[in-house]
Amino acid sequence: MQIKLTSPAISKKRNILGLSREEILSFMVEFENQPRRASMRVSQLWSWIYCHGITSFEKMTNIDKNLRTKLTKAFKVSRPNIEKKEMSSDGTIKYLLCLDDKSKIETVFIPEETRSTLCISSQVGCTLNCSFCHTGTQKLVRNLSSQEIIGQVIAVYDDLGLWEKMKNNRGISSYFEVITNIVFMGMGEPLLNYEEVKKACNILMDNKGLDFSRRRVTLSTAGIVPKIKMAHEEIGCMIAVSLHATDDKTRDILVPINKKWNLEKLLGSLKNDVNLRNSERITFEYVMLDGVNDTKKDAERLVKLLQGLPSKINLIPFNSWTGSNYKRSSSDRIKAFRDIIIKSRIPSPIRRPRGEDIMAACGQLKSSSIKKKVSI
Ligand code: SAH
Repeated sequence: MQIKLTSPAISKKRNILGLSREEILSFMVEFENQPRRASMRVSQLWSWIYCHGITSFEKMTNIDKNLRTKLTKAFKVSRPNIEKKEMSSDGTIKYLLCLDDKSKIETVFIPEETRSTLCISSQVGCTLNCSFCHTGTQKLVRNLSSQEIIGQVIAVYDDLGLWEKMKNNRGISSYFEVITNIVFMGMGEPLLNYEEVKKACNILMDNKGLDFSRRRVTLSTAGIVPKIKMAHEEIGCMIAVSLHATDDKTRDILVPINKKWNLEKLLGSLKNDVNLRNSERITFEYVMLDGVNDTKKDAERLVKLLQGLPSKINLIPFNSWTGSNYKRSSSDRIKAFRDIIIKSRIPSPIRRPRGEDIMAACGQLKSSSIKKKVSI
């Protein structure tokens, strides 16, 4: 599962977006000589980049002119280009973003009544080949850099005009005017790109910048067991696990990484190794597939499996795509499944399908992909 890590350097100027505070400081020390001045410069740059969305050093008016010229020579503040943007009748906006090496990734904005979520990608494509997921059918796979991960958030701030709204600090009149939550549920497996995802999360959660609280950032994983505990401790964000099945035979097919870390290893580690904080729960994602994982027995097994683990189960009606061999469970089936779970007091909302008219499910926007055969 080794992946080539870096994208080709296209421009000689380094992108300052997505660098950690420490990295920027090391450059400022070179430019400024004086450590205290250098650290002040980092704060100034950080604020221009992450509170105001400024892309030109020349506009950073509290930084002295000589330094602005040096910065302009060495750095750029760039984000991915929006190549395609589609808006669903329910307000969901799906972006296809183009990276410096021309790779394409997806980012989806999902406004709701009480929050608005940005769903971001952590890799171009994905190596995990979950049989119901469209991203697994795409050939090219590489990790995204923290620049490219943060770039998705910044590109959407630009597009929705969120900087102005932040600056004016006027009350939010609807959740179309703000991003309240970030979820790593776009393309890729975030825990197979751990270091860059961690760096990006630190930037997202920096309280002098984008300022997302750790409870509003969620990493979703298919179950890279050793990295879950690490992410929970080191990054501190919320963890969601794509469970999707209640026995190993079915999960081996739906989420093949199960052959490496099966249900016992996955749930054993969540119960014994991950120290959940006060009132914290692990979210489990469970895609409802007709005749595959949606029986009464499955629901009962699910409740048993999660005993002793503070959990929430998101039931996700399957988002169909052309070429897939699966069908969405009927809404009666989904409700019957949910009724069994809530009897055991585990919250289990049924996720309302969003952006269906624009195919907003994971990996579906990258149109010209080659579809592999899936079997079950
Ligand atoms: N690799 C990570 C994150 C990306 S997928 C993970 O597996 O969690 C984000 C979520 O979308 C996962 O729960 C995934 O199983 C689900 N998903 C992918 N394709 C889907 C589809 N066609 N319909 C419904 N959910 C889907």
